[in-house]
Amino acid sequence: MDQDFWCEVNPQAADARSRGLLRPQPGDLPDLLGGWCGPRPLRISGGGTSSRAAATGQWTLDLRGSLKQIVWNPDDQTVRFGAGCRMGEVLEALLPHGRTIPAGLSGRPGSGYVLTGGMGPLSRRLGLAVDQVLAFSGVWGGGQPFALSRDLNQGMAEWRGLCGAAPFLGVVSELVLTTHPLEPLWIERSGGGPDQLVDRMAAAEAADSDRSLQWHWGADAELQFLWVSGAEQQGLERIDGLHQLPSLAPSPPGSPRLHGEVVGLLGGAGAEKWRPLVAGLRTLMAQRPHAGCNVACQQLGGATSRIPVETTSFVHRDAVWKPWITAVWPAGDLDARQKSLAWLEQVWQLLNPVCPGVHLAQIHDHLPFHHEELEQAFGAWLPRLRSLKARLDPEGNLPTL
Ligand SMILES: Cc1cc2nc3c(=O)[nH]c(=O)nc-3n(C[C@H](O)[C@H](O)[C@H](O)COP(=O)(O)OP(=O)(O)OC[C@H]3O[C@@H](n4cnc5c(N)ncnc54)[C@H](O)[C@@H]3O)c2cc1C
Repeated sequence: MDQDFWCEVNPQAADARSRGLLRPQPGDLPDLLGGWCGPRPLRISGGGTSSRAAATGQWTLDLRGSLKQIVWNPDDQTVRFGAGCRMGEVLEALLPHGRTIPAGLSGRPGSGYVLTGGMGPLSRRLGLAVDQVLAFSGVWGGGQPFALSRDLNQGMAEWRGLCGAAPFLGVVSELVLTTHPLEPLWIERSGGGPDQLVDRMAAAEAADSDRSLQWHWGADAELQFLWVSGAEQQGLERIDGLHQLPSLAPSPPGSPRLHGEVVGLLGGAGAEKWRPLVAGLRTLMAQRPHAGCNVACQQLGGATSRIPVETTSFVHRDAVWKPWITAVWPAGDLDARQKSLAWLEQVWQLLNPVCPGVHLAQIHDHLPFHHEELEQAFGAWLPRLRSLKARLDPEGNLPTL
């Protein structure tokens, strides 16, 4: 049963020897967390797309069963949705109202997308997904229910913690987001060699915040570039909104059943600083242990940089580039896993001088670099975040911070 549930979205979770799925009603969450005496931490599955949505010997709290409602409020043009919804479902529900949210490159991720920051092609114009949140409700790790709103609670450590570090603090059951008019987008897809990378990034940095560049490097010497623009441009392809965004890259060839890990980095403006790294990246791409290992990147800046650092747990407000490194290997092949993870760390090391920050979109508390990721994700905010966790999740029901 659990296998069938995961197979649809996440073969890695399906293969984990998890204890099983818990599917409480929202009203059961305080007792469940407050009285939890099973193995810790509990895993949370919002959309269930990340590598730690299920783990060997642990239970997963599945939100997809009972937290699926989406309610449009015409009075203030907000959307309230259960934390078991996928971003694609929220986009679809907003279509009839001519509204949208700054979702990411795919509709597959669930509420983890918003809770970990969430950036997409509209973020330069509209901000991060977490910047759209007007209210959260749920239960802290220790079992206390909460309902916080931006109007009343922005400025409190709890609000800041939920905005980008929620997975360590509580189980969010419902979110309210502000929405924006659904407007057509113009996209341009093209291929190109590594020698074009820096020039295209420099052009993107010079472009106004209505445009964003994303790229994907998944073959030795060929990259895919995807421009997304909110302003009509001759020769570009028109789509009706993010719900029609094509995928950035083709699926990895070969192996039907892959496991993997993703590390997201964050770095500031200055495409030229990437130029000396391209040769090294090229070498690492040629040496990647599996054809599905890749590096991709999306552009931030504009609206994402206008939010004060102390408002959310996404502290890298000066970030303009978010490269993410994906390491994959055939399910169950431990030797290949080790090689792919070592490759990921090599790419990370190479990019570190230009991207010293981390976007913690996936939790890696099973990997040796978890603490390094926490430091690089939360910086000077981490000690206060840890105090907050000690108060709100004293037994450590949720992942270690
Ligand atoms: C196909 C694809 C495309 C993506 N594109 C983008 C993109 O364009 N931009 C971007 O920023 N990211 C992107 N991501 C990354 C994705 O947003 C993150 O990995 C996100 O954490 C996934 O959330 P989830 O709910 O699907 O996964 P899950 O595995 O369910 O959750 C991820 C983490 O969030 C925690 N969590 C989930 N829901 C809750 C909750 N309600 N309360 C507390 N904790 C919770 C879980 O404990 C887990 O640690 C993409 C991922 C995929 C698979």
